[in-house]
Amino acid sequence: MATDAPSKSKRTNLRRPDIMEMVKAQVLSHYQSDLVDRLRSKGEVSCLESQLTIRLAKEFGFCYGVERCIDLAYAALKVFPDKQLYILGEIIHNPEVNDQIRDMGIQFLSGPHKAAEIEDLGEEDIVIIPAFGTEVSIREKLESKGCQFIDTTCGDVMSVWKRVRSYATEEVTSIIHGKASHEETMATSSQAISRNGHYLVVNTFEETDIICQYIEKGGNKTALLERFQGSYSEGFDPDLHLQAVGVANQTTMMRGETEEVQRRIRGAIVKRYGAKNVGSHFRFFDTICGATQDRQDALSEMLKKPMDLLLVIGGYNSSNTSHLAEMGERVLPTFFIKNSGEIIGQDRIRHWNQYAQQVEETRNWMPEGNITIGITAGASCPNNLIEDVITHLFDIRGSSSDQLLYFN
Ligand code: SF4
Repeated sequence: MATDAPSKSKRTNLRRPDIMEMVKAQVLSHYQSDLVDRLRSKGEVSCLESQLTIRLAKEFGFCYGVERCIDLAYAALKVFPDKQLYILGEIIHNPEVNDQIRDMGIQFLSGPHKAAEIEDLGEEDIVIIPAFGTEVSIREKLESKGCQFIDTTCGDVMSVWKRVRSYATEEVTSIIHGKASHEETMATSSQAISRNGHYLVVNTFEETDIICQYIEKGGNKTALLERFQGSYSEGFDPDLHLQAVGVANQTTMMRGETEEVQRRIRGAIVKRYGAKNVGSHFRFFDTICGATQDRQDALSEMLKKPMDLLLVIGGYNSSNTSHLAEMGERVLPTFFIKNSGEIIGQDRIRHWNQYAQQVEETRNWMPEGNITIGITAGASCPNNLIEDVITHLFDIRGSSSDQLLYFN
C-alpha cells in the first residue's frame, strides 16, 4: 500500500513538517469556519430579532479519512509543483471541494470534468487515489503505465477489503451491503475477484429478501441473475455461490440496516442448513466506519430534542449524507441540500429527493414565528459551506450582520 509515497521506486515523504504546515494553513483558509467552530462547542446559536435558533449536531462534516485525503492532495501539489497531478475521480462527494482541487491544477480521469485517459499517462504522471479507494484492475493499469500514485484510501475502507479477501480465501461469497455503483463498493468488490472469490451487492431489504428466498428454497436462476445484473462477479452462480456467504458493507451505510441485512441472511442460512451448521455457511463482520457511526449517533441524540425542521448538508451523491437525511425524515421535516444556494428564501427551498433521485422544490418550507432548525452535514461537507447555510438562514429571517447572535 502506498500512502504518502508516490511510487514504489521513488518514495517521497509528503508529510514533511514544512509541507504540512503550509497545507494546514491552506486547508483552513479554504474550508474553516470560526462560526461553526464556536457553534460546535456551544451547540446552539440564536437571534432574538429573527426568532431563529440554529442547533448543530455534535458530530458532523469532514471525517478523518476525508481530511487525510485532502491534506495529501494539497501536499502533493506543493511537493511536485512541476508535475501534472491527476485524480481518478471525485476526491470526495462534494462539488465545491472538487471544483477547488480542479482549480488548483489537479486533473480528473473520470466524470464530467475528465481531462485525460489512464491509457495516455506515463512515468512522469502522478495519480491520486481518493479515500474511497479504487478497483484492483485500475490500480494495476496505473502500475503497468509506470505512473506514480498517491494512495489516500481510508484505513477503514481497507479493513473491509481485508475482510472480503479473507472471505474469498475461504471460498465464502461476499454479500456486500451497499450501492453497486458507488466507488467504494466497486473497489471492495474487486478485492473479492482479486482472490478468485465471488461477490453480490445488495442495497435494500427487498433485494436482501430475494436473496434470502433463494438461499432457503432455490428458484429461477436466470431471473435472479437478471434482477441483480451489474451487482455480482463474473461467473457468479447462485446455486453454488450462495451456499457459504459472508456479509460486509460499504462503510457509510446505516448500522441498523446493515445489521438487519445480516440478520435476515443468517436467518435464511439457518432455515436452509440448520442452526448447528451456521458456522460453515455464514460469516459477518460489521465494517461501518467510526466517523459514519459518530455522525449517525450524534443526529439520533439531536433528534430527541424539539426542532421545527432539519437541514442536512452534503453532496447529492454522498452515501453517508443520504443516510443522515433518511434518519431526519423519520422524525421531522427534513431537507437535504448541497449548499446555501438551494435556500431561495423563506418560502422556497430546492432539495434532493434521494428516492426519486432528483432535485425538488418545496414552497413554504420555513414556519413563521420562533423556530429552531437543526443542522448536520455529511463526512464530505466542509465547515465553510455549513457557515454559508447558517448565515444565509439568518439573512433570510431578516437579521442584519450587526445583530448579536447568542450562543446558548
Ligand atoms: S466516511 Fe469513513 S470510511 Fe469513508 S473516508 Fe470517512 S472515515 Fe474513511
